[in-house]
Amino acid sequence: MTVYAGPVFDMAVQQFGVIANHLSIPMDERERILMPKRAITVSCPIHRDDGSIAVFEGYRVQHHLTLGPTKGGTRFAPSVDIGEIAALAIWMSWKCALVGLPYGGAKGGIRVDPRSISVRELEGLSRRYMQEMIPFVGPHTDVMAPDMGTNEQVMAWFMDTYSMYQGSTVTEIVTGKPVSSGGTLGRREATGRGVAHLVRRVMKDLGIALNGATAVVQGFGNVGSHAALELYNSGIKIIAVSDHTDALYDRNGLDIPALVRHATMHGSIAGYSNQLHYDPAAILTLPCDVLVPAAMERVIDAHIAENLKCRVLAEGANGPTTPAADLILEKRQPEIFVIPDILCNSGGVVVSYFEWVQDLQQLFWEEDEVTRREYQILDRAFDHMVSRAKKDNIPHRTAAMALGVEKVRAAKATRGLFP
Ligand code: NAD
Repeated sequence: MTVYAGPVFDMAVQQFGVIANHLSIPMDERERILMPKRAITVSCPIHRDDGSIAVFEGYRVQHHLTLGPTKGGTRFAPSVDIGEIAALAIWMSWKCALVGLPYGGAKGGIRVDPRSISVRELEGLSRRYMQEMIPFVGPHTDVMAPDMGTNEQVMAWFMDTYSMYQGSTVTEIVTGKPVSSGGTLGRREATGRGVAHLVRRVMKDLGIALNGATAVVQGFGNVGSHAALELYNSGIKIIAVSDHTDALYDRNGLDIPALVRHATMHGSIAGYSNQLHYDPAAILTLPCDVLVPAAMERVIDAHIAENLKCRVLAEGANGPTTPAADLILEKRQPEIFVIPDILCNSGGVVVSYFEWVQDLQQLFWEEDEVTRREYQILDRAFDHMVSRAKKDNIPHRTAAMALGVEKVRAAKATRGLFP
């Protein structure tokens, strides 16, 4: 019996089953590796602007503490529940281990549509959530970061709230902060840049020229917009993008810098164009060289996997592909090269790690050093994944997750089981 439930959690369990079978992990060891160490649910009351009181439910799940503090984003979305947060925490663990960071995975969130409340209410909710979390987090226990529905401003409120309670400034309690409050150069762009870097690498290996190649990006928030901009700056035509408000298609390529300016000013791509509307559900199956899902989980199911017409699937979002779709993609290898989420979007946590290190040392790096080191780590993990997939004749996702799970398992084995 477990408190974790729901389709996203089931997906993380199913994926782990595949890896555990592949690694022949004994049955009695599996639960210890898979199940989250700690989870907390909090209720966060706030004063609404109209004087009433509203209560929002918040969560934080810390998956394992074997390699160091836990690390993970904070999601504000109406769909958030404890099962989804637990799955995201588990994936963070495999991701951190795959790229070699001294962290376990964590994730947190509040069940709220951040667009439905005012900025003042959002600040009150962010601060109250962090205040409720104080007994459970810390720079050496659990370090938060942004995710869907949160941003640098929310991280600044988190950091300020934690610091006010400690009586001194503790920048290292969260990452993804504004540079003016102890953030690092290059964090805002890190996830999207990492996605684009890996895409360029794969295209080179596949012999696809960047100039004139085409890409489709689902989601135009932090990850999607920066990935699109970086791909655009590499000469790739972004023929379609979507967000929660609209989808746009232009076979000659969208003006991504103009679209980024519009989305920054208006909070979405809505109202950018009257002529370029497209069916949001259909953009995933447009013919293109690169498809970047960068919004939410489980958008590529078996049916869509059958109908994908891309050469490279670069998973910017966490968990965009269902296990049933994975089986189809396995059959479609090598026609579609999958860069699995735990590698593809890991540039975000890699640069979050750099931010934490810089905050602890109070010694800050230039942006080109941040990005150079980010790419170095991504390249190393990419090489490990590809050679493991070839050696064992397994899909990239299985290889990437196996590398992560193996590291966590080895650390647990050498530390032993307390007491
Ligand atoms: P964000 O809130 O900045 O942006 C989310 C985007 O998705 C928005 O443009 C939103 O409109 C869009 N969206 C929501 N519902 C949609 C729908 N039904 N169809 C199309 N678009 C939709 O969030 P983000 O930080 O960019 O995160 C996006 C994904 O990337 C999430 O899966 C997140 O877990 C993952 N991720 C984020 C980071 C990071 O550094 N922010 C790092 C790793 C992974």
